[in-house]
Amino acid sequence: MATAAVLENQIRTIDPDEERAFMDAIDRWLEREVIPVIQHHDHNDLWPEKLVEQMAEMGLFGATIGQEYGGLGLPATTYAKIVMRISSYWMAITGIFNSHLIMAAAVERFGTPEQKMKWLPKFATGEIRGGLALTEPNAGTDLQAIRTVAKRDGDDYVLNGTKTWISNALNGQCFAMLAKTDPGADPRYKGMSLFIADKRDGLTTGKKFEKLGYKAIDSAELVMEDYRIPADQLIGGIEGQGFFQATGGLELGRINVAARGVGLAEGSLRLATEYAQQRETMGKPIAQHQAIQLKLGEMATRARAARLLTLDASEAYDSGERCDMEAGMAKYFASEAAVENSQEAMRVFGGYSYSKEYDIERFYRDSMLMCIGEGTNEMQRMIIAKQHLKANPV
Ligand SMILES: Cc1cc2nc3c(=O)[nH]c(=O)nc-3n(C[C@H](O)[C@H](O)[C@H](O)COP(=O)(O)OP(=O)(O)OC[C@H]3O[C@@H](n4cnc5c(N)ncnc54)[C@H](O)[C@@H]3O)c2cc1C
Repeated sequence: MATAAVLENQIRTIDPDEERAFMDAIDRWLEREVIPVIQHHDHNDLWPEKLVEQMAEMGLFGATIGQEYGGLGLPATTYAKIVMRISSYWMAITGIFNSHLIMAAAVERFGTPEQKMKWLPKFATGEIRGGLALTEPNAGTDLQAIRTVAKRDGDDYVLNGTKTWISNALNGQCFAMLAKTDPGADPRYKGMSLFIADKRDGLTTGKKFEKLGYKAIDSAELVMEDYRIPADQLIGGIEGQGFFQATGGLELGRINVAARGVGLAEGSLRLATEYAQQRETMGKPIAQHQAIQLKLGEMATRARAARLLTLDASEAYDSGERCDMEAGMAKYFASEAAVENSQEAMRVFGGYSYSKEYDIERFYRDSMLMCIGEGTNEMQRMIIAKQHLKANPV
């Protein structure tokens, strides 16, 4: 049963010393390698090749992949803390391994034993990196409206269609690709299947999108024209499971976006707190004006609440409980906290917030994406409300 597969996460517990050592390594990497190059890569929208190599060396491309496949098999709680920490300096680079890990999770949870043995070790080392290819020009929220079709032809499938907004499209080599194997199915989700789509003839990448934020990581179209892949790249080997497989990973996906939101909210707070104690008006640091204190008080509370909600959802996930509502609440709250804290920090910085010399403008540009990805916050609230009403019938 697919539901059982979701709950069978091969998550290990982690010793607190081991977690601390890992977090220390992340801190050293941020300080020595990442922080000095953020502005250069963000302002010029440059792929951070050297950092990607270092991420692979640290095992980040296998962070949540089971140890039996060469991954670190980290619990969601540790993984969330890593994402929070990195995102409190530069959210965009977490997308390079996050989207990849969601692809890997689809194979690990729903793939055949042969698929796991073939693909997961290469995903874990970062030898093959990639992402998740669901969205199409006409279908984002309404995933069941996708038009990509996969037709069985002997021992192969032949895919035709266009995916858009795909993270890691240019620099990745492989994608979890959602397509319709039965376009006439009713209900529509029963005709959907998920494939391991590696780059080969018939799969081309469009131009890199120019974006407001989330720079350095590439987002682009993937175009399939008579793109032929072996039938054994259908995840799980059975048609019609794709919608569940693609959305079944959303708990971890939402925890991941929530963790990015926490990082952005905390980073914005950190920058505003430092600046408010250095900038003086009317003969004293602006941190001593009540108007600024109100902002800092609200920002600190929001960041902490977002962190606690995210850790609560991660702990539920690690214990094997169903946690889609907790993960949805964390994603919704933390992403809104990221937007609000970055906006408030902009006000604390006054005119300097508008200068590219300061980091806060990046937090402002990057934060809005958290409200859109992994299910928009409009949908998130509707899903939370439905579950809430179901649990509280009159
Ligand atoms: C930088 C970036 C990176 C991305 N990376 C990826 C990726 O790696 N892989 C991938 O597959 N996709 C990716 N996406 C796409 C993203 O997942 C979609 O943009 C998102 O799902 C929203 O879909 P949409 O843009 O088509 O908006 P729409 O679905 O058109 O929604 C527009 C608005 O209508 C609202 N809405 C829609 N339906 C309803 C409803 N039934 N009830 C109430 N409100 C509704 C939405 O909440 C939203 O406010 C990325 C997007 C961006 C911007």
